[in-house]
Amino acid sequence: TSALAQTDAELFSAITDELGRQRDEIELIASENIVSRAVLEAQGSVLTNKYAEGYPGRRYYGGCQYVDVAENLAIDRAKQLFGCDFANVQPNSGSQANQGVFTALLAPGDTILGMSLDAGGHLTHGARPNQSGKWFNAVQYGVTRDTLLPDYDQIEALAKEHQPKMIIAGGSAIPRIIDFERMREIADMVGAWLLVDMAHFAGLVATGEYPSPFPHAHVATTTTHKTLRGPRGGMILTNDETIAKKVNSAIFPGIQGGPLMHAIAAKAVAFGEALQPGFKTYQQQVVANARALSDELIKGGLDIVTGGTDSHLLLVDLRPKGVKGNTTEAALGRAHITCNKNGIPFDDEKPTITSGIRLGTPAGTTRGFGEDEFRQIGRWISAVVDGLAQNGAEGNGATEEKVRGEVAELCARFPIYQGL
Ligand code: PLP
Repeated sequence: TSALAQTDAELFSAITDELGRQRDEIELIASENIVSRAVLEAQGSVLTNKYAEGYPGRRYYGGCQYVDVAENLAIDRAKQLFGCDFANVQPNSGSQANQGVFTALLAPGDTILGMSLDAGGHLTHGARPNQSGKWFNAVQYGVTRDTLLPDYDQIEALAKEHQPKMIIAGGSAIPRIIDFERMREIADMVGAWLLVDMAHFAGLVATGEYPSPFPHAHVATTTTHKTLRGPRGGMILTNDETIAKKVNSAIFPGIQGGPLMHAIAAKAVAFGEALQPGFKTYQQQVVANARALSDELIKGGLDIVTGGTDSHLLLVDLRPKGVKGNTTEAALGRAHITCNKNGIPFDDEKPTITSGIRLGTPAGTTRGFGEDEFRQIGRWISAVVDGLAQNGAEGNGATEEKVRGEVAELCARFPIYQGL
């Protein structure tokens, strides 16, 4: 009795097909996860109907008494989860959370210092095609050639030379723990704000598997849909009341209008789940699984950037096998293992080709995979990559078909969204 099936068969079948894809394929995209039925229910609720410009208790619309409850729950749980005094849960995305912080603390033309996209940073940290790279004087730092870790000496030198108003720590392909203390020392040397964008590892921070940005960060941003396992969205956290007030005005009315109350309700549900003891066990398993996967890939003859991982993600350097990121993404896709091509530090290939793939364990761990399953996944990946190394871009069809069958069996043993 789906209303959608009756009124819009085309769209209904797209959703049904996507559900099937998620059920039957192994999801290794490091920025994705599998939300609970409760989160889905809140996200698909009547709260989508409500306009609520403003903040709880201070709205520009009537009838906000119940959505206020939802937003207050999200705020209180976020503060508890990250041990901080202030949370703005309205950003529609991680990008808008960063844009909100820039609007709060910077003016157009100011200098910012963030990690370059090539080295593992995010578009919104000053990349040229992004607004952050167009409206600010964006200076970019990278990683050292020998360790492939953030180059803190370079950050310090660039900070002294360019006197940025803001330094940004964090990124989308950083497998190791970032030294927030050192970043703050550098920020203090030049009087810059330190923004930590913990979008990727926020779930690990919530349970103590990764150091908290606080007290070092002046302000932190995150997405809510990666390791944190909530709905797509963003959030801004700080302990500084002055920054908090500026952030509130920057998000509304600065860059957004009516907040997505259904998404905020779903954030509240996810944060409630993250406060349960099981979430810590989950995050510990996420990290153990990433280590097991990394270990198995090394055994298979692949290089892992930085030699391993401290977090939920790893960057695979495919050069020892002489294959490219784009063809590997496609071949693994044929075997029903989903990942993304990703540049590795100092990559000679274009971003549309790349010499690497990025892998993450959050989604697989949610469906119940442990280290044994991730070691098996590592062996499948190596086999598919070897097929490419031997046969070129078309790969080894027989290997890919065999792996696809075994993937189907594994996914059937760890079902998701039963009865949906
Ligand atoms: N910041 C980091 C570090 C990210 O990895 C991402 C997502 O890829 C974002 C911000 C942007 O989040 P969104 O895609 O929700 O705009």
